[in-house]
Amino acid sequence: MTRLVIFFVLVAAIAALAVWIADEPGSVAIAWGDWLLETSPAALAAAAAIFIALGALIFQLARWLWLGPRNIARARQQRRQQRGYVALTQGLVSAAAGDARGARRLARRANLLLGEPPLTLLLSAQAAQLEGEDDLAKAYFEAMLEVPETEFLGIRGLLVQANKAGDTAAALSLAERAFALRPHTPWVLTTLLELQSHAGRWSDALTTLRVALRQKAMESKPGKIREAGLLLHQARSARDSGDGREAAKLAERATTAAPAFIPAIIFATGQALALGRRSQAERLIANAWASTPHPALAQYFNQIHSADDALARAKHFEKLAARNPSHPESHLLLASGALEAKLWGTARSHLEAALKVRPSAGIYRRLAHLEEAEHDDTEAAHRWLLAASEAEPDPLWVCDECGVPASDWSLACPACGALDRMAWRQPAARPAALEADPAPGPSENAKAPADNATDRATGVNGPDLPGANGKAPEPV
Ligand SMILES: [Zn+2]
Repeated sequence: MTRLVIFFVLVAAIAALAVWIADEPGSVAIAWGDWLLETSPAALAAAAAIFIALGALIFQLARWLWLGPRNIARARQQRRQQRGYVALTQGLVSAAAGDARGARRLARRANLLLGEPPLTLLLSAQAAQLEGEDDLAKAYFEAMLEVPETEFLGIRGLLVQANKAGDTAAALSLAERAFALRPHTPWVLTTLLELQSHAGRWSDALTTLRVALRQKAMESKPGKIREAGLLLHQARSARDSGDGREAAKLAERATTAAPAFIPAIIFATGQALALGRRSQAERLIANAWASTPHPALAQYFNQIHSADDALARAKHFEKLAARNPSHPESHLLLASGALEAKLWGTARSHLEAALKVRPSAGIYRRLAHLEEAEHDDTEAAHRWLLAASEAEPDPLWVCDECGVPASDWSLACPACGALDRMAWRQPAARPAALEADPAPGPSENAKAPADNATDRATGVNGPDLPGANGKAPEPV
């Protein structure tokens, strides 16, 4: 609007000027050499105006002739690039949607239009992956490693491939390379930690865990349990290489990291006993009993008091059980003490109390033992044994992921490899993972330790207790 007004004002001004020049009388004379030009001011002004307009026109024409082709090429290049990016975007969408053929076609198109391979490598790799051409995808990912901008993505692609192929050594070295590039990326930290844990590189895993906790890539509570588990494995390695003191120190650190982590408490107790630190072992057992009584601890406790006579030992058991009086393990501890002291009535009442809280095969077997010891009643004993065969199994280390039991705790489930999933609990009568696979192996494993449970948990058969080798008893 403003421009229109300015234009009209300008036109009116020029018209007024022209009228004024035309109306004013006078003449203009230009003398140049022998030439003499005489004309009116209006004609001169008109000639000057035409001259200027013509000059401007010629200048524009020359400029267009000079720059035109270049502009056209640039515009074409821009359109081409635009179409390339559209193809790239659509290709990535196709890849995300699982359309392998579309992704491949658009990758080729984007590559052709953009002429910048690094940009389209990821799409090409994804398309190859979707089509199941892993080798081709690998080649694309490897090409991405050569370009700084795409190196990290290339590593990620290769890492996923290595994990899928079960090549843990390659996966670990790729995770380390990713960590070197971006040490604060959460998935890098958790992947590296997992791979190091599986590879048994406890010390490296602990270092990674600390970074992961600092970067909040892992929550504090599971992080502390993982730390305790890694320290426990480190302690076991130290014990196996004959360094009992280092093992005890590491076990103590594990119990400090996660005070309720029972595998570390069991190990620390065993190490304390192996080093002759009886009162330390007793303190560990007493503290743990209040929250997490465990038959392995009962066994160590029995070992500590093995020199006492049966009645004195029963008294010690009573003191320990008082820390958690209603727990079935407390009842089983008291029952074992009473059985040894031949206090049949007391043994029976505790076994029946344990049966009420958590019935399991081991308790029925103890009752069978009691019938034989007290009354020599084989018929009653047989009835209890029959009940045992139909009862729930005794608690074991069981993987919460696959349900397969194991003889001892470990960070990674020996059956499925899941981390931090071993729990002390009653296994399903038949492990979930075996439902589809009727192989007899693991279910036999599941039964075998349970069969020994009576003796181990009660400590009835003293000579079979762990010696001073510091190894944890099989916590069954
Ligand atoms: Zn498992």
